[in-house]
Amino acid sequence: MSLETSFRRLIRQTGPMSLARYMGEANAHYYTRGEAFGRQGDFVTAPDVSQMFGEMVGLWCADLWQRAGRPDRIAYVELGPGRGTLAKDALRVMARQGMAPQIHLVEGSATLAKQQREAVPGAKVHGDLDGVPRDTPILLVANEFLDALPVRQLVLTPKGWRERMIGLDAKERFVFVAGDQPMDDAVPEDRRDQPVDTILETCPGAAAIVEEVALRLQSQGGAALFIDYGTLAPQTGSTFQAVRRHEKVDPLRDPGSADLTAHVDFASLEATARTAGSDRVYATTQGAFLERLGITARAQALVAAQPDRRSQIAGEHRRLCAPDAMGELFKAMALVAPDWPEPNGFA
Ligand code: SAH
Repeated sequence: MSLETSFRRLIRQTGPMSLARYMGEANAHYYTRGEAFGRQGDFVTAPDVSQMFGEMVGLWCADLWQRAGRPDRIAYVELGPGRGTLAKDALRVMARQGMAPQIHLVEGSATLAKQQREAVPGAKVHGDLDGVPRDTPILLVANEFLDALPVRQLVLTPKGWRERMIGLDAKERFVFVAGDQPMDDAVPEDRRDQPVDTILETCPGAAAIVEEVALRLQSQGGAALFIDYGTLAPQTGSTFQAVRRHEKVDPLRDPGSADLTAHVDFASLEATARTAGSDRVYATTQGAFLERLGITARAQALVAAQPDRRSQIAGEHRRLCAPDAMGELFKAMALVAPDWPEPNGFA
C-alpha cells in the first residue's frame, strides 16, 4: 500500500493527522529510497556543491582539537550524513592535521547507512544519538539535518490557537485543517497575541537533539556545529515545503516522494541550548563562516593546482558564500563545551 493510501485510510478512520506525523512518516519513507542527493536526485547540498565545504568543516574541527591540547581520545560525530561526502572531505583535512578521531555517524535510513559505511572507512553508524559513546569529547557536525525533522504548526483561529492538522477534502485530497482541541497553552504567553490565521512553527525533534548535544558537551567536552537554512531571529508563518527534482512542489501531494523540510529556527534552538546550561552558543551566516575559515584562500589554491577549473571553482565558491545564493539563507550555529577554546568562524 502506498503511503498516500495509508494516510487517507488513517484520516478516514480516525480524523485529521498532525503535520508532524505526516512529515515524519513521509520523510522516513523518502530517505529509505536513498536517491535524494546530487544533480540526478532531488536536491544538491553544500558538500555536493564543492569539496571546499567539507574541508572548511574539517579545518574547523582540527583547529579546535589542536587548541584544546590535541586530546588522544576524540570522536567525530555527524548527524544525517547523506552519502557521506562531508565526512569524507572533513576527515581528509583532519588527517592532514594529525587528527585521527573515532567516527560515529547517526543515520535513520538503512540504505544511506550502507552508503556511508562504504564512503567512510572505519565509521560506526548508529540509528540515533544514544549509540554514540559518552566517555569521549565529541566534535559533532550536522549539515541540512535539522530541517528534515518533523515540525508542528499552531494556527490562530477565531476560537483560539489550534494545531494545524492534515485532513481530506471532498475529492479526498490532503488539505490543512485546524484541530478541534484548544492549544493556547502550547503557545508561549508573549507570542499568543497575533492576527487571526498566524502560524507558529516549532520543531520538537530539533529541540530534543540540541538539548541532548548541549548536555553531552557539558559532560564529555568538545563542540557542535549545525549548518542549515533558517533564521537567527524568531519568525511567524509556515516554512513547510517539498522539493523534488530541484523544484518546489506541493508538500501535500504524494507524501514520501519528495523531501519535506522546514526552515530551522536558530533563535529557539539557541534558547534551548542556554536552558540546557550551555552559555557558549555562536551563530552567523554560512557565507561569513566559510570566509572567516579561509575558503577564498582554499579556492585560490585549488585554482593554482588546476587552472582549467578556474571558473568552475569560482562558481562553487560563489554558490556557497554569495548572499543571493547559499551564503545568507544558510546559517551556522556552534555550541562549545565550557572549557574548550573559542571556535573559529564566528568573529
Ligand atoms: N548532511 C547531508 C544530508 C542531508 S539530508 C548533506 O549535507 O548532504 C538529511 C539526512 O538526515 C539524511 O541522511 C537523512 O536520512 C537523515 N535523517 C533525516 N531524518 C532523520 C532522523 N530522524 N534520524 C536520523 N537521520 C535522519
